[in-house]
Amino acid sequence: MRHRESTLVLVAGGAGFLGSHLCDRLLAEGHEVVCLDHLGTGRRRNLRHLEREPRFDLVTHDVVQPLPARLRRQRFARIYNLACPASPPHYQADPEHTLLTSVLGTRHLLLAAEESGARLLQASTSEIYGDPEMHPQAEGYWGHVNPTGPRACYDEGKRAAETLCADYARAGRTAVRVARIFNTYGPRMRADDGRVVSNVVCQALAGDDITVYGDGSQTRSFCYVDDLIDGLYRLMEHEAQARDIGAVNLGNPVELTVSDLVRRVLAMTGSSSAVVNHPLPVDDPRRRRPDITRAGEILGWAPRVPLEQGLRATVMWFADEAEDGPRAASR
Ligand code: NAD
Ligand code: UDP
Repeated sequence: MRHRESTLVLVAGGAGFLGSHLCDRLLAEGHEVVCLDHLGTGRRRNLRHLEREPRFDLVTHDVVQPLPARLRRQRFARIYNLACPASPPHYQADPEHTLLTSVLGTRHLLLAAEESGARLLQASTSEIYGDPEMHPQAEGYWGHVNPTGPRACYDEGKRAAETLCADYARAGRTAVRVARIFNTYGPRMRADDGRVVSNVVCQALAGDDITVYGDGSQTRSFCYVDDLIDGLYRLMEHEAQARDIGAVNLGNPVELTVSDLVRRVLAMTGSSSAVVNHPLPVDDPRRRRPDITRAGEILGWAPRVPLEQGLRATVMWFADEAEDGPRAASR
């Protein structure tokens, strides 16, 4: 698995939650890393520990625009496309930009991959399955997505990005890998991210009311960030004859209700926060659990970090951030 020769890797979205962990992993594997990010939801503080790292460079740029000439002159061996806000409040704040980020951004990165002869990994999402009628979700399922609802800018953008990737691969222009990522959590999530894990952990630590949308019976399956990054790296480095090996689900198949998650966080933190129910957002999927058979067969991958352990690490990280200042985790 470990690379002996150094290879230049571009990580679009590398200042974000997942992207910054991916940069760490790539550097640990001996690669040189260029991070491309417009610092929308991403933060410099996620990369602060890399400021003096000679094998790391941060280029501030919006992928909706063609890549800067400086990058087009570089020869990348691998390109990871993680550039896209992932949490519903963030991606719905500017839906047009979110859609264009997935469509134009992916096109610009595919063109860069084609020019470099690089392999591209697209960070897709379980959201391409929408509110699924098939449970658990396997890669062969085409999904149940509202094309005009408030989540569509993200879901349809990611679906179109997969289409572009498949077309580039089919035409023999670029080798692609597509990871369909399911809910992932861990250190470096933003406190103001709006996602359930960050919200509930921060609310419990602060003694604030816990916001449960709907009755809390909807389910999700939460994957710890280290497991997810390992899956992305394995998928990218998987040697396949085919230029496109098809999409691969990456996530933790342990499914639980939002209410169950809240109970666990309250018990872990010893918090006496009250639970307050809010209306369920429009098009909120009822349930979600990945079928990861394919990732197991092709990559020999399965998540290893149990929920209790991952949640504990996340709680400790947010508690440390809170000590640094009330808004530190969102800077
Ligand atoms: P994040 O919001 O923390 O990171 C996204 C990064 O992309 C940020 O640094 C942001 O500044 C950058 N970005 C966004 N639009 C950009 C643009 N137009 N140009 C340049 N940079 C841009 O989100 P994350 O949780 O780290 O997610 C990373 C990727 O993984 C996203 O593509 C997301 O869709 C996908 N994903 C994440 C999850 C999850 O649970 N975290 C689940 C499914 C898919
Ligand atoms: N959710 C919740 N309280 C919150 C934030 C989210 O009950 O403070 C719910 C949300 O409605 C959804 C689930 O938790 O049913 C997961 O939401 P998240 O935004 O984390 O991920 P996604 O919906 O994109 O899977």
